Amino acid sequence: MTADRGDGPHVRQLLGAYVLDALAADESGPVAGHLQRCAVCAAAYVEVAEAASLLGLVDEEDLLE
Ligand SMILES: [Zn+2]
Repeated sequence: MTADRGDGPHVRQLLGAYVLDALAADESGPVAGHLQRCAVCAAAYVEVAEAASLLGLVDEEDLLE
């Protein structure tokens, strides 16, 4: 895992809302792009997504994107 910072600010603060699909389209797009480039935020996203899944807040299939 690298220390690649991606091409923008980290998005950890937005991951909760992103997982719950609560972000506006102009916010979720950059978050999705950042997750593809930033291993740190991608790992954080997995943790948030798994927690949300355990809580029944999201559908499993939403996590496959
Ligand atoms: Zn990041």
